[in-house]
Amino acid sequence: SRQFTRPLNDLSNQFNTLLSAVAGADRVFDIIDTEEEAVDEKEAAPLHNIKGKIEFKDVSFSYEKGGDTVSDLKFKAEPGQSVALVGPTGAGKSTIINLISRFYEPDEGLILIDGYDSKKITRESLRTQMGFVLQDSFLFQGSIRENIRYGRLDATDEEVEQAAKAANAHSFIQRLPVGYDTVLSQDDAGISQGQKQLLSIARAILADPSILILDEATSSIDTITELKIQEALQHLLKGRTSFIIAHRLNTIKSADQIIVIENGQIIEKGSHDELLVQEGFYHNLYTSQLEKKMLMNY
Ligand code: ATP
Repeated sequence: SRQFTRPLNDLSNQFNTLLSAVAGADRVFDIIDTEEEAVDEKEAAPLHNIKGKIEFKDVSFSYEKGGDTVSDLKFKAEPGQSVALVGPTGAGKSTIINLISRFYEPDEGLILIDGYDSKKITRESLRTQMGFVLQDSFLFQGSIRENIRYGRLDATDEEVEQAAKAANAHSFIQRLPVGYDTVLSQDDAGISQGQKQLLSIARAILADPSILILDEATSSIDTITELKIQEALQHLLKGRTSFIIAHRLNTIKSADQIIVIENGQIIEKGSHDELLVQEGFYHNLYTSQLEKKMLMNY
């Protein structure tokens, strides 16, 4: 199964240790910022009310000296657009996410956010306006209510429930004996993988970020929950710029833009219809997908 590269894995681990001890602690990114990352540039300033226009201008990056991990990336996402990143394992999809999230900086080229060089924006202001829905649901030991509220710590109970409704999570939560007060423990019996995803979608809806990172789950989920997730994602994606490492054909087809990456390079980009007529990599993928149903099994 695929996973994000180190930063997001670290994030997940630190999140679990920290929050099992202190629910409602400071945002986990603060820890990452102080322990792991380079400090912001001196002239960096916060950028408030990000609209979500994101542009990569000839971006190259490598984790280690030697060949580029990704090279010469050029693309533009308008505010509110959804962008599906598609490509074989090791192609560079997570690396693009790591660059957008500023876990790493480009070696060459520029990443512009709302037209500003992202290096000139403080990481904190950027990240408080970004949401993450990852395969690992980031749930901590605490009640369902607290887990959703982590998206926005000052949210009222009613706002938490509204977010849960928009995420198709309310009905299953209500069926639990103590509902929103159900405590999720380490082995959280009774909550399925799919329901965990609905909770993390509810949390992201509550956070209301202008930029969303979605690493779609690969695990197989029953058909009904899967439909609920798809519907919840439609609510979540609406009005936000989203970057999706997509595994479901439906998610890819409905993206505003599909970026196909191979060996760290963009080999095709466009909408589903545009890419189909090109009869290239995506076209082949799509036609084989029809037989195999699961996109990444190639
Ligand atoms: P997958 O679908 O398997 O997750 P991906 O398209 O997301 O793949 P990346 O995770 O971005 O691909 O990896 C791109 C390349 O960079 C791979 O060759 C990978 O081994 C390498 N790589 C990823 N993370 C690191 C790291 N932290 N340090 C060094 N190399 C890395």
